[in-house]
Amino acid sequence: MSTENATAQTETKEFQAEVKKLLDIVIHSLYTEREIFLRELVSNAADALEKYRHQSLTEEKTFDSHLPLDIKIEVNDDQKTITVTDTGIGMDRGELEANLGTIAHSGSKTFFANLEEAARKDVHLIGQFGVGFYAAFMVANRVTVQSRSFRMDDQGHEWVSEGTGSFTIAPCPGIRRGTKIIIELKDDAHEFANASRIKRIIKRYSSFVSFPIKVEDEVVNTVQALWARSKGEIKDEEYNEFYKFVGNAVDEPMLRLHFAADAPLAIKALLFVPESNIEKLGFGRTDPGVSLYCQRVLIDQHSKTILPEWLRFLKGVIDSEDLPLNISRQALQDNALVAKINKVVSSRFLKQLAETAKNEPETYEKFWKEFGAFLKEGVVSDFMHRDELGKLIRFESSKGEPGKLVSLTEYVERMQEGQKEIYYINGASREAIEAGPYIEAFRKRDLEIIYTLDPIDDFVFSHLGVFDDKKLVSADRGDLELPELKDEATTAEEAKKPALDQEAAKGLTAWMKEVLGTKVKEVLESKRLEDSPAIIVNPDGLMTSSMERLMRASGQGLQEFGAKNLEINSRHPLIKGLAELRKKDEPFAESVVQQIYDNAMIQAGLMVEPRTMVERSYQILARVVQS
Ligand code: ADP
Ligand code: MG
Repeated sequence: MSTENATAQTETKEFQAEVKKLLDIVIHSLYTEREIFLRELVSNAADALEKYRHQSLTEEKTFDSHLPLDIKIEVNDDQKTITVTDTGIGMDRGELEANLGTIAHSGSKTFFANLEEAARKDVHLIGQFGVGFYAAFMVANRVTVQSRSFRMDDQGHEWVSEGTGSFTIAPCPGIRRGTKIIIELKDDAHEFANASRIKRIIKRYSSFVSFPIKVEDEVVNTVQALWARSKGEIKDEEYNEFYKFVGNAVDEPMLRLHFAADAPLAIKALLFVPESNIEKLGFGRTDPGVSLYCQRVLIDQHSKTILPEWLRFLKGVIDSEDLPLNISRQALQDNALVAKINKVVSSRFLKQLAETAKNEPETYEKFWKEFGAFLKEGVVSDFMHRDELGKLIRFESSKGEPGKLVSLTEYVERMQEGQKEIYYINGASREAIEAGPYIEAFRKRDLEIIYTLDPIDDFVFSHLGVFDDKKLVSADRGDLELPELKDEATTAEEAKKPALDQEAAKGLTAWMKEVLGTKVKEVLESKRLEDSPAIIVNPDGLMTSSMERLMRASGQGLQEFGAKNLEINSRHPLIKGLAELRKKDEPFAESVVQQIYDNAMIQAGLMVEPRTMVERSYQILARVVQS
């Protein structure tokens, strides 16, 4: 072919109108992450190699079939160029024109779908939308694409453009199969003519691409996309190595989940639970540790949208080929596909936890101790997974040994006949709860009661509301209704301790209410107490004392909390004595009432005014030592 001939075959073509618009934005808008051009070019190269591999299996003869399948990146610092070469499927003249001159292909289609939206919000957002091949013009003055198709009859062509309205296509004889893209860097993009910079970018976005990527003859992507391989052939050590790589970790994972699904979505996921929860160590909130990939190419590192927030302790990878590579981070947030992947993967993880709990209780307990707080957070914040999470939470209970954890399922299994509700009470420790007034009525009836030792537990239960159709009820509710006492012996025991008569009790409670004023809503005679003289209960069943304490501590307590009820035990010697004292020395009896109230508040874990309380208790003690 003569030079004249070749020139004669050079054609200048206008870009499609939409491409012009797109290029204009690419070239003139402010891009924050210009380095993604390399991700786009490498992923195109990997696609082309994949397509070639596929073709070579079915095609009888392909051009240059001896070439190794790889991607080479060369940097020329003198000329300020970057060259990306692949030995993939290549493009003939028609394909060059169609693929690089229109926006018929998927990548930039997404861009246009998002463009209008972005224009309405903020032009700068445009920078977040991927634009596929055209991203090269973010850094290039001129882009040259030399390509030769795998088909035996293609001769090779060169496509050249400066990104301003038109491109040329000319024959380019003598080249090998595949595509070479030469980027002549803009003045403000010379930083990219630097091999170590290029290596870093490749490691970030393209570590798992399945063909070797060579920069200065060094293969940069040495880690396998383990998630894409089948489970059976992967060794534990390989998994652990991979965990260390993606999790940037030095420990060994406690649990892992590796699964693949084809329907309704193509998802491959490889997730790890680390050895320990660093939030617990006081390192502050961890960032999400799972990254989103499409066909092994990074879309969103440490994605905030691919899993619920409460799963932020997981490390690993989710890959879905159904996602467009060019999807922006902005668009990820309201993408229905992403929401579906999120749901499928979280449910799978919870299912695996349930299996671990059943088959390896010790491992699960270890997991719970480290990461239980995240599951509790899930109950509170994630309605969608609430029921699944309800089965996974664990607590101590009155029926278990100290330190032994029970599930709500176990609790329900051993509920008494006729028992309709699940009971719990919060306290600072097991000992504090067992010494307090709240569990007396439960002990008497041999009813199991869950001890919620973590201040947030009451929020967890109030969000859960019911478990297995049984209401979750805090023992400090005013309207607590426990099953009738059946045991006659206990009843007889009660009878031995005579109570104040009805009238005296009524008079006493009315007077106590007067003394306490607005501090309490009501003073009532208790049906639940045995050994304690008094107890604070919450008349409205929604808020427990521990919830109130937590809200006060976080500064939310400034608004009014509903006043509480004080219940008194009319069989208790202190209460009976109080009725007598009132007749003899009312002012002193009033002090005793205030002290009973403060003591009951302390047992409820609520704040009292310490100075007044201590002064008063000294006055009372002074009377005791004087008499
Ligand atoms: P997408 O990759 O989403 O299709 P791009 O803008 O990245 O969009 O690429 C446009 C098209 O150009 C591709 O679909 C492909 O047909 C073609 N193409 C780009 N780079 C190459 C390459 N290295 N080898 C072969 N074809 C390519
Ligand atoms: Mg592409």
